[in-house]
Amino acid sequence: MSAAGRVAIVTGAARGIGAAVAKRLAADGHAVGVFDLDEAGAKNTAAEIAADGGKAIAVAVDVSDEAGVNAAVERVAAELGPPVVVVNNAGVIRDNLLFKMSVDDWDTVANVHLRGAFLVTRAAQKYMVEAKFGRIVNMSSTSALGNRGQANYSAAKAGLQGFTKTLAIELGKFGVTANAIAPGFIQTEMTKATAERIGIPFEKFIEESAKAIPVQRVGQPEDIANLASFLVSDGAGFVSGQVIYAAGGPTN
Ligand code: NAP
Repeated sequence: MSAAGRVAIVTGAARGIGAAVAKRLAADGHAVGVFDLDEAGAKNTAAEIAADGGKAIAVAVDVSDEAGVNAAVERVAAELGPPVVVVNNAGVIRDNLLFKMSVDDWDTVANVHLRGAFLVTRAAQKYMVEAKFGRIVNMSSTSALGNRGQANYSAAKAGLQGFTKTLAIELGKFGVTANAIAPGFIQTEMTKATAERIGIPFEKFIEESAKAIPVQRVGQPEDIANLASFLVSDGAGFVSGQVIYAAGGPTN
């Protein structure tokens, strides 16, 4: 079976990195379940895939909702076929210094990133085990190494790395690999929101950030989509339990 016969789920795929990953996996031949809270955005991504000759369905779902996720994954299985590729990408930020961070800020970030990745992966793994093939990619971040104002986010992104390694250990014997991508600065609505929060024009934020990156530019969603495309391919079958930093240079 090649990518042409496979079904992938990409969460948070209405825009940004998720949309780029969904489009790339579709171009590689996967049928794609485009998951997002934002139904209009998800429909837009699915329509763009269809316009390029690919196959996709938009599924409005909150990845932190157990019943919703189970229903969404079953819908993909019924309409596209058994999902054997999952990219857990949905994410939010609720940045604040620890002393100002509310319990709600903490819980929201933990629920979307960690509970969301757990729920989607748990619902899809049975299809991977049955197929004796699976690919799981979890979107971590360089913030997993620590980042001022992101105690909630860095804890969640570091947690995803432990989750990834455990999936690799448990599911390897079924032909399933699990890896994490840890992006650095990628130009999306998320980094635009960060620029707004700290009061710097987005263009200036990009320019200043690029100076500190060895390749002298910020990342684009397609940079991450390229890596995801490799990690879900047949050729990546001996790469598992890894965290790959895609940040334009080494990280500390
Ligand atoms: P983005 O543009 O904000 O896109 C995130 C998408 O996730 C949005 O469409 C959002 O929908 C969706 N989402 C949020 N909560 C959800 C939920 N509970 N259920 C389903 N979908 C949900 O962000 P991005 O920059 O593309 O980031 C994608 C991933 O990469 C995230 O996990 C992020 O943490 C990670 N990352 C990003 C960067 C970066 O520099 N951009 C760096 C490292 C890691 P709504 O609009 O409806 O909320």
